[in-house]
Amino acid sequence: MMVELNEVSLTYQSPDGEVEALRRVSFGVKEGEFVSLVGPSGCGKSTLFSIIAGLEPPSAGQVFVDGELVTAPSAKVGYMPQKDQLFPWRTIWGNVTLGLELRGRKNPQERERVRELLERYGLAEFAQKTPSQLSGGMRQRCALIRTLATAPKLLLLDEPFSALDYQTRLAVSADIYSIIRQEGKTALLVTHDIAEAISLSDRIVVLSKRPAAVKGEHAPKELSGLSPLERRDAPAFQRYFNAIWKELDVNV
Ligand code: ADP
Ligand code: MG
Repeated sequence: MMVELNEVSLTYQSPDGEVEALRRVSFGVKEGEFVSLVGPSGCGKSTLFSIIAGLEPPSAGQVFVDGELVTAPSAKVGYMPQKDQLFPWRTIWGNVTLGLELRGRKNPQERERVRELLERYGLAEFAQKTPSQLSGGMRQRCALIRTLATAPKLLLLDEPFSALDYQTRLAVSADIYSIIRQEGKTALLVTHDIAEAISLSDRIVVLSKRPAAVKGEHAPKELSGLSPLERRDAPAFQRYFNAIWKELDVNV
C-alpha cells in the first residue's frame, strides 16, 4: 500500500470552539493507483491532505505512506496545491527547481532530471520565460514538473484544475493525467467535479459533508484502459455518475 488511512479523525480547536473536520476516515491507495476524493466543499478534503503530507497531526488514527507512519513532511510526498502558485518573478527554470532548492538538493544529477522533464513535456524552450508568458495549461504542467522534480512516490493534487474554464480543464486534466501515468506515480486527487473524478480515476472515494467520513467507494473497471476523454463517452460513465451523485450531499 502506498497510502493507508486508519480511522483518521481531526477536530480543530479554534477561538470560536471546536470544528470537527474528519471522522474515522479509512481507505488505502495501492502503488501506481490513481484515486480521487470527492466531497462537498468545506467537508475536510484539504485537511485530509495536510495530514497525509505530514503538515498537521490527526487527533486520532494513523496515516502510513509507503509503509511508514507519517509524523512530519517527507520527500516521498509531492503536494500540488489548488492554484499553480508559481512565482511570477522567477523564470520557469527557477520555478521548477524551487523544491530542490528548498531541500538543498540542487546537484547536477537532479538538475539533469528536471531538464529532462522539461524536455519530455515540451517546456524546455520556455525555461527562461516567466509564468505570465505561458498558457494556463502550460503553467499547470510547470507546477506538476516542479512537484515531480523532487522525485516523490506519491502525488497529492488538491483541486488542481478548478481555476480553469471547462474546455481548458478537459484538455489540461487529460494532459496532467497522461504525465502522471507515464511517470508511473501514485496519485490522490481532490475534486468536487464528479465527471472529472470518473474520467481520471481507478477508484473514487466519496466523502460526506463535514465531518468528512467515507460514504462509499467506486472502481469503474469498465473504463480502465480508456483515455479520460474516451471515458466520458463510455456507456458505464453515466451509471457511475448517477451512483456518486446520489451519495454526495449536494445542496442548492
Ligand atoms: P475542503 O477542502 O473539503 O473544502 P477543508 O479541509 O479546507 O475543506 O476544511 C474543513 C473544515 O475545517 C471547514 O469548515 C474549515 O473552515 C475548517 N478549517 C480548516 N482549517 C482550519 C483551521 N486551521 N482551524 C479551524 N478550522 C479549520
Ligand atoms: Mg479544499
